[in-house]
Amino acid sequence: MSNQALQELIAKTQATLERIAAEYAPAALASSLAAEDMVLTDLILRGKLQDRISIFTLETGRLHKETVGMIDRIRATYDYEVAPYRPQPEAVEAYVQKNGANAFYDSVELRKECCHIRKMEPLNRALQGKASWVTGQRRAQSVTRAELHVQERDEAHGMEKFNPLADWSEQDVWDYIRANDVPYNPLHDQGYPSIGCEPCTRAIQPGEDIRAGRWWWENPDSKECGLHVVDGKLVRIKSHAAS
Ligand code: SF4
Repeated sequence: MSNQALQELIAKTQATLERIAAEYAPAALASSLAAEDMVLTDLILRGKLQDRISIFTLETGRLHKETVGMIDRIRATYDYEVAPYRPQPEAVEAYVQKNGANAFYDSVELRKECCHIRKMEPLNRALQGKASWVTGQRRAQSVTRAELHVQERDEAHGMEKFNPLADWSEQDVWDYIRANDVPYNPLHDQGYPSIGCEPCTRAIQPGEDIRAGRWWWENPDSKECGLHVVDGKLVRIKSHAAS
């Protein structure tokens, strides 16, 4: 993409964020602290939109230390405190007691249960009282995001959901980060284009799908979908799991 085209993409994204701040506040960016969310963090904080678009992260208790360290780097760079939302300790304890600490490897259902406890319940809490939420998801990231729109209705949370980077390529993200000296998770330089919880994320080889390192033991199109058994057959259904 030419520099002019990137500038136009940035201007369009800034306009989206300003529209969210003007028409859909209070809003919140659910930041995974990965590259895409750092682009949005930079745009929100440089645009002084943080009073209307706050930033939180789901501190699952299983993140890499490099990822948790991004909270300190954001504070040091922007003088902004990202709000960490943590799982309910008693729910984590009950899951571990019943299934084991790493039971998410055993089945899609146990993986989704862990994600529910460590991500979805805290996400629901973080979104309480909000009029909309914002993610760093991009259409090109995976087969499960191929139909992603900049603005969608999130019926589950009863609010608008915005994906301002839906049209961005991975190259656009990195061109923005380098041009604007945006801090980023050092794991991105170690083969991790997509970063989630430590036990569920691994480095990928050159040429592999960028989300291949997430829940790598699962089928690619089950990574954000529920698998249910109906009449003895596996049936895929769509869900709206956070990244
Ligand atoms: S990504 Fe893995 S460790 Fe993190 S909440 Fe989901 S199953 Fe649990």
